[in-house]
Amino acid sequence: MRVGPPGAAGSVTAVTRLYLSPPDMSGSERERLIAAFDSNWITTLGAEVDGFEADVCEFTGAAAAVALSSGTAALHLALLLAGVKAGDEVLVSSLTFAAPANAVTYLGAVPTFVDCERETWNMDPELLEATLADRAAVDRLPAAVIVVDLYGQCAQLDRIVALCDQYGVPVVEDAAEALGATWQGRHAGTWGATAAFSFNGNKIITTGGGGMLVGDAESVARARYLSQQARQPVLHYEHTDIGYNYRLSNLLAAVGRGQLADLPGKIDRRHEIHDLYVDGLSGIDGIEFMPWDDRGRPNGWLTLLTVDPALGRPPLEICTALDAQEIEARPAWKPMHLQPVFADNPSVGGEVSEELFDRGLCLPSGSAMTDADVHRVVEALQGVLG
Ligand SMILES: *Cc1c(COP(=O)(O)O)cnc(C)c1O
Repeated sequence: MRVGPPGAAGSVTAVTRLYLSPPDMSGSERERLIAAFDSNWITTLGAEVDGFEADVCEFTGAAAAVALSSGTAALHLALLLAGVKAGDEVLVSSLTFAAPANAVTYLGAVPTFVDCERETWNMDPELLEATLADRAAVDRLPAAVIVVDLYGQCAQLDRIVALCDQYGVPVVEDAAEALGATWQGRHAGTWGATAAFSFNGNKIITTGGGGMLVGDAESVARARYLSQQARQPVLHYEHTDIGYNYRLSNLLAAVGRGQLADLPGKIDRRHEIHDLYVDGLSGIDGIEFMPWDDRGRPNGWLTLLTVDPALGRPPLEICTALDAQEIEARPAWKPMHLQPVFADNPSVGGEVSEELFDRGLCLPSGSAMTDADVHRVVEALQGVLG
């Protein structure tokens, strides 16, 4: 489905605006949503919630899953399960969206930001190793590590999980952007003790808003309990823990099941779009595409490139030029260690993510884009950079 700007319909001259990653309905979502509505199970329990959780487990190989109101809620519960408390240190990838760092602060814990590597743009295993060794030497290991699978590509999860296991530090995998990606043949979200997926509107599949926590059966049962206000299984409302209201609606789960059914097709289409960009733009000197490490298969969520400063076209300027042609583009995530709100937080390294922020550009990558849409972006970029 193409998404146009408000008011564009009816105007013959209006160009359809191309967004970064708009929702892409596969066809069955509407029917499933109406069936769930007609069943009167319109709240947070129902067959669609159970089915969505089972579908995600089947697709990814995760042992158990609980559907939640957002990916951020999943990260918050994952940190609670890891035993993170006020004052604890949690290591977090610096180059990411703010959600994992925010979730750490919800618990009064302190995120320390670890720089990324050039191979995958994810947490640098060598910096992680040095940091863990450093903390072990003074007997102050972090309470957890949140490793992000950025832009749909897995981190070097085998190395990162092995290192954390060696020190007994729990790993939370932030796979919000990486549903369907694999690393060494194993799915994003199945590497850490627990993992978070997001079904926010711009992710590879969406429920309009939602998330999921996956992990072993015991962790997921605990997360489920905390997500429904920590109600004890008795008829009178009895509470021995502080809980949260984090459940996903059965209506939204119905939409999610329709989306998930077509996830392999959406991944294939995003790869095709990526390849069209590579073919169309590789003639321009001074640009490089985000590397895709062949130990894994990204889900292709967004196509990114870096622009050499020698071209004299900073990403923000390119975004403005594309915006004037009804094309949405964005710079890469601003690293957390550069964010004013985390100015006082410790960080390890930082030069690589700073460089990627200075040079990185995200291109429209939605799975509903036509080849002609991609060519429009290619031509616009050739105009700006050529
Ligand atoms: C989108 C996103 C989240 C949060 O997901 P929500 O469902 O929007 O709460 C967490 N981490 C990363 C890396 C994300 O991109």
